[in-house]
Amino acid sequence: MADVVIAGAGIIGCATAVGLLSASPGLEVVLVEPDPTYARAATGRGTGGVRQLFTRPENIALSRYTLDVIEGWDRWAGEDGHEPQALNWRPNGYLFIAGRQDVGALAANFENQQCSGVKAHWLEPAQLADRHPQIQTADLAGAVLSVRDGWLDPKRFFVGVRSKAKRLGATFVTDRVVDFHLTGTAVRSAVLESGRVLVADAVVNAAGTWAPRLAAKVGMRLPVEPMRRHEHYVEGTADLDDLPFIKDVAGLAVHPHLQGLSVGLVDFDHPGGEDFTIDDDYYSRTVAPALAHRLPHCGQLTLKRTWTGLYDQNRFDGNMIIGNWPGHLDNFYVASGFSGHGFMHALGVGRGLAELILHGDYTTLDLHRMNYQRVHDNRPYPEHGIR
Ligand SMILES: Cc1cc2nc3c(=O)[nH]c(=O)nc-3n(C[C@H](O)[C@H](O)[C@H](O)COP(=O)(O)OP(=O)(O)OC[C@H]3O[C@@H](n4cnc5c(N)ncnc54)[C@H](O)[C@@H]3O)c2cc1C
Repeated sequence: MADVVIAGAGIIGCATAVGLLSASPGLEVVLVEPDPTYARAATGRGTGGVRQLFTRPENIALSRYTLDVIEGWDRWAGEDGHEPQALNWRPNGYLFIAGRQDVGALAANFENQQCSGVKAHWLEPAQLADRHPQIQTADLAGAVLSVRDGWLDPKRFFVGVRSKAKRLGATFVTDRVVDFHLTGTAVRSAVLESGRVLVADAVVNAAGTWAPRLAAKVGMRLPVEPMRRHEHYVEGTADLDDLPFIKDVAGLAVHPHLQGLSVGLVDFDHPGGEDFTIDDDYYSRTVAPALAHRLPHCGQLTLKRTWTGLYDQNRFDGNMIIGNWPGHLDNFYVASGFSGHGFMHALGVGRGLAELILHGDYTTLDLHRMNYQRVHDNRPYPEHGIR
């Protein structure tokens, strides 16, 4: 009998185990993960960006919590004489840019972010050009730079979180959750592909983009679907190392990586589905022109590598869906629909789920507006920060 069974041991599942075992040492926490190589998991395919440039106070606070952990990483991940891997944290800042059409929304978001205590600066195009002459500013009407933000090696961060879950006493089982046994509004056990049945006081569905299938088994309809996203690594001749993580409204996201740049441009028209195929022309057709336009002085860029990964895209309002569904599913907790920012929010979500499971409510950061009830009641709680 486990206290908590967690389906999925990606960053969300492992962070939830850390949250539970930090709050209540000795708890029996079992993580069920079918693929310990994480070949298809989003966690292994992300880019590791951490930003405060959101519009909902919860998302801003969750990012800030992660920044606190990153800045105190050796202490957080390295207790008991254990030396954690360096994160390759690059606090170059996050820069959101907008043309005339979108500058009003950017300004409104900026005001919001300031009210939430984000240390961000408004930059007019001329100021931006002075600061980063590599960036094309002729078509821009404003920019926001959040100086504390940056990016890191997501695999190293994940290894640190997973190791901490193990050190705190979590049990990892290589198997797949395929069903649940229910009594009334309570889940009694998780059924695994091997036939094993894990009886538990609480179950967490942290199966990422596969979470809707599991939720459907207990009558919960999650409006989440996989969305393919390409990421490209390019090398050039110019020195681009001091650039921040740049994002524009059209979906272009670019930041310095290794000896070059990591760049993505979300294709919002691509039909959803579990699709990892690489469109060989996508870079030259769509990404290269956008990149050449935004960074016109960066010389010849050579594409070195392309990979794809899946966003667990919440088609309802683009925000995470977390927690239980009181009165319907009292001890079944979900954490899904992160829509491309689950990595940077994982630790705070794990801490919050632990509070909800152990105390019946959030005690540090109130995340109740991210609950499933809003989906059921058709009350969207959208995030207006650039995707
Ligand atoms: C290209 C790309 C770039 C990204 N960039 C960023 C970024 O810069 N910053 C950021 O914050 N986020 C980013 N993200 C998003 C981030 O990676 C995800 O939000 C986050 O990793 C989701 O973690 P997860 O644990 O929910 O899902 P996953 O990592 O997908 O883990 C879910 C796990 O559940 C397992 N599973 C599936 N079915 C079952 C089952 N039936 N039983 C048990 N286990 C099961 C899977 O094997 C998997 O390991 C990016 C994503 C991609 C694809």
